[in-house]
Amino acid sequence: MPTTAELEHLLRETDLRVTRPRLAVLNAVYEHPHADTGSISDVVRDDLGDVSHQTVYDVLRALTGAGLVRHIQPPGSVARYESRVGDNHHHIVCRSCGAITDVDCAVGSAPCLTPSDDHGYAIDEAEVVYRGLCPDCAKTGATTHEAHESRKDPHG
Ligand SMILES: [Zn+2]
Ligand SMILES: [Zn+2]
Repeated sequence: MPTTAELEHLLRETDLRVTRPRLAVLNAVYEHPHADTGSISDVVRDDLGDVSHQTVYDVLRALTGAGLVRHIQPPGSVARYESRVGDNHHHIVCRSCGAITDVDCAVGSAPCLTPSDDHGYAIDEAEVVYRGLCPDCAKTGATTHEAHESRKDPHG
């Protein structure tokens, strides 16, 4: 986790004025990868007290615009934010509980998929989202499945 001094440095490097809400929001994004605006607001309020949802939203936009924070929105999910910027990593999203995990791009740089036909577009990105069951949900699913199997007559 970066120190407050390091966060201040990051803000100054992008010409964003250092303010307490900006520091608190940036810190919250570092501490809670892939958090949504509501969760970030809660963390920031715990830290600073009275900060409006709108302020947090505006700060997230400024930080995203400055490239300090990445905005992601997996299909079916609300907007989420993370501090891991500048690489082409992807996300695995659990179909059951919505847990999100980073996964390094297998190729390394965007676009990591070549379209069958680019239709003349200069393509610079492929949005890749992996979906499946997280280990916890897969375990729960397996247990349910086993319980179901054991009810069957093995000789039937
Ligand atoms: Zn899950
Ligand atoms: Zn991520």
